[in-house]
Amino acid sequence: MNIYADNGATTKMSQRAIDAMIPYMAEFFGNPSSLYSIGQKAKEALEDARERVAKCLGCTPAEITFTGGGSEADNQAIVSAAMAGARKGKMHIISSAFEHHAVLHTLKKLAGEGYDVTLLDPGERGIVTAEQVKAAITPDTCLVTIMFANNEIGTIMPIKEIGAVCREAGVTFHTDAVQAVGHIPVNVKEQNIDMLSLAAHKFHGPKGCGVLYVKKGLPIYNIIEGGAQERGKRGGTENVAAIMGLAAALEESCENMQADCEKLVPLRDRLIEGLSKIPYSILNGDAVNRLPGNVNYCFEGIEGESLLLLLDDKGICASSGSACTSGSLDPSHVLLSIGRPHELAHGSLRLTIGADITEEEVDYIIKSVTEVVAYLRSISPFWHDLESGKRQHMIKEFWR
Ligand SMILES: *Cc1c(COP(=O)(O)O)cnc(C)c1O
Repeated sequence: MNIYADNGATTKMSQRAIDAMIPYMAEFFGNPSSLYSIGQKAKEALEDARERVAKCLGCTPAEITFTGGGSEADNQAIVSAAMAGARKGKMHIISSAFEHHAVLHTLKKLAGEGYDVTLLDPGERGIVTAEQVKAAITPDTCLVTIMFANNEIGTIMPIKEIGAVCREAGVTFHTDAVQAVGHIPVNVKEQNIDMLSLAAHKFHGPKGCGVLYVKKGLPIYNIIEGGAQERGKRGGTENVAAIMGLAAALEESCENMQADCEKLVPLRDRLIEGLSKIPYSILNGDAVNRLPGNVNYCFEGIEGESLLLLLDDKGICASSGSACTSGSLDPSHVLLSIGRPHELAHGSLRLTIGADITEEEVDYIIKSVTEVVAYLRSISPFWHDLESGKRQHMIKEFWR
């Protein structure tokens, strides 16, 4: 069997997205800034895509800037709000400890330049609340940036409520919605969002293409200087084909959202139920308030990398921590932020299933993970110490 269960890292492009791209590579390859007709054809397509994306997000086309992906949109949003804040003498930024590195590393850079950054604690459930945000806002706060849904543990934040708290305090609110868009309802107007980042490749569109939404009236600062593309806010010839793919994939995933959700939630819960039977295992993140396709577990006495390699042998693509940190020995900052000890965080498994998965495949994943965990424990001296009582189990509840 071959099962792709790493949709949180990236997704397979949909045929509709591929079909939408091809004409803009083959036929209408012109530069949208050129005046002749193949250039103008590309320009028209670009503006049509902008309108369609705006419609999906609940904003106006002028509020949409196309970027080179989710990370770039996060960088630009945060830097824009930070610069605008500094001009008013406000240099305090609120975020959370389990944001994506595109956010955390940008904040780290700003902290080095004199900004004061507060990282809220998502707690054991992995959810940052509006009350926490409200309590952290000071007269110096220029930006609140809280992710819509966490990329590792899939938990969903109360974005509308956080947005309302920010509106009331007059503070700009950005959300990294890269994991949410196309999977759960997102509407910037209804959810009080001032700035939002998304990436096409997380909803069956192409890689290297994203969107930054910025509410009308808020300043945007360039991070890529160049020509007058994107109203001078993002230099560089637009990736027209990818933008067409993004718009098509976004429309398609929004059309399919409800049906996909109805299919995925029971399968996700079946997977959670099946894996919960593994001794000394624990689900990471809230069981209910999580993305339809996300399952994340820690298994005591297991090395995540070995688990992934053996699952790969069984035809299952999964991840441990996030793709960006694999290869490094540090345990996931997300799992540490929700209070998992280092040793436990090392034994994590993220399965992010897509709507094309079947019940048989879910059962195969459960069977495979159960076997692999048992095998790895059987050859682990560390596990033998736990079994013989030389070491204490970290996961307390006794399973039999
Ligand atoms: C994938 C991801 C990003 C980065 O997007 P890229 O398009 O890969 O740059 C940012 N934030 C979250 C939550 C993500 O899942």
